[in-house]
Amino acid sequence: MIGAGHAGLAISRVLSEHSIDHIVLERGEVANSWRCERWDSLRLLTPNWQSRLPGYSYNGADPDGFMTMPEVVELISRFAAASSAPVRTHTTVTALSCIDGGYRVATDSGEIRCRSVMLASGGANIARVPAVRQAVPQRIECVTAFDYRNPDRLPPGGVLIVGASATGVQLADEIQRSGRPVTLSVGEHVRLPRTYRGRDVLWWMESSGVWSQRYDEIDDLERARRLPSPQLVGAPEHATLDVNVLRAAGVEIVGRLAAIRDGRALFSGGLRNQFALADLKMERLLATFDDWACNNALNVEVGPAERFPPTAVPASPRLSLDLRSGEIRSIIWATGFCPDYRWLDLPVINHKGELRHDGGVVVGAPGVYAIGLPVLRRRKSTFMLGAEDDARDLVGHLARYLAGGVRPA
Ligand SMILES: Cc1cc2nc3c(=O)[nH]c(=O)nc-3n(C[C@H](O)[C@H](O)[C@H](O)COP(=O)(O)OP(=O)(O)OC[C@H]3O[C@@H](n4cnc5c(N)ncnc54)[C@H](O)[C@@H]3O)c2cc1C
Repeated sequence: MIGAGHAGLAISRVLSEHSIDHIVLERGEVANSWRCERWDSLRLLTPNWQSRLPGYSYNGADPDGFMTMPEVVELISRFAAASSAPVRTHTTVTALSCIDGGYRVATDSGEIRCRSVMLASGGANIARVPAVRQAVPQRIECVTAFDYRNPDRLPPGGVLIVGASATGVQLADEIQRSGRPVTLSVGEHVRLPRTYRGRDVLWWMESSGVWSQRYDEIDDLERARRLPSPQLVGAPEHATLDVNVLRAAGVEIVGRLAAIRDGRALFSGGLRNQFALADLKMERLLATFDDWACNNALNVEVGPAERFPPTAVPASPRLSLDLRSGEIRSIIWATGFCPDYRWLDLPVINHKGELRHDGGVVVGAPGVYAIGLPVLRRRKSTFMLGAEDDARDLVGHLARYLAGGVRPA
């Protein structure tokens, strides 16, 4: 097993239940990503009661609250200890290659041979930054969501945030509140209210079965796997954080960053379409929830159906911004993340640089599995509450593989 985040530890727990001998290699400490790669104010956007792992569920005093990063680290560390997970920390895997009858795992402290490997090294190891980054004038500080910690670490002055998914909207809100003027460049996004009909929107996602939809039932799986994270924040006030809220707070909204030419950032004029599409998708999702509530006789238990005002389009959004004028002093690239598989010495990466897998069963490397990637086996796969179902499916497959009952994918 490579990686001791919640996904690797969930697999480890299920492997132990099956008495399958294994070891978990971790380059840092347990829950390393939550310790080292998140900003200071981040809280989970999933409510505490959704922090479930195999054999563990939240039993604290605030089931509807949202965990801070130290709380997440504590939760995952306690889970590792309770599962007696065989974690070898400070061991970085530097290469994974095929040998007769199995695999050779090279690490910075020696080599391991094994029949099977689980890649639980995370789906968000590297910030995905568009190529236009190269054209940013030198005096502007560029920061990714991995580097950002808090507004005080940014140079004084205006901030351009590129990307309006969970990370972008959260950082726009925090930085605008700190007194720095924020411009938010909005491309494709997923809009969600924090609360719908009196319940948390993620209660609806889970209860209605939307989150449990399997990967092999999804029409356009590739698209589902690329969908940006929803505009949600885990704030104690349970407030919605969308473009309307940010605009009201003074954030300037501009279109998708299309290019940087001669020091000028050029934004797409397609905001109206982006907003219409996000509003439409949100309406459809809410209608799915309404149908489910109706079919399950929940209409009395939950509040009445709600509809939200459409996203307001700014009268004349700026189409360009001179990055040499001094108005913008830093740019935050909130443009998504991707896994880092540069150490994989196996023919399992496609032409887009993505791992080839069928629901986590890696194609082209029998006995190699992956967990924790977007919509791996279900829509909820990257979330903490999604790890158990995926882990049980994959360990079931692995057990059959080790028993010699599975043909290579
Ligand atoms: C900003 C952000 C906010 C999120 N918010 C939520 C949320 O509110 N709720 C929720 O349920 N999910 C959330 N997620 C999604 C998800 O829970 C996290 O991405 C989670 O960290 C994924 O767990 P994981 O175990 O798959 O990967 P990780 O936690 O990233 O664990 C992978 C581990 O592998 C180790 N590793 C990587 N490469 C190597 C190597 N070569 N050798 C050895 N070890 C290696 C890493 O150090 C790391 O510890 C969020 C994700 C991000 C990025």
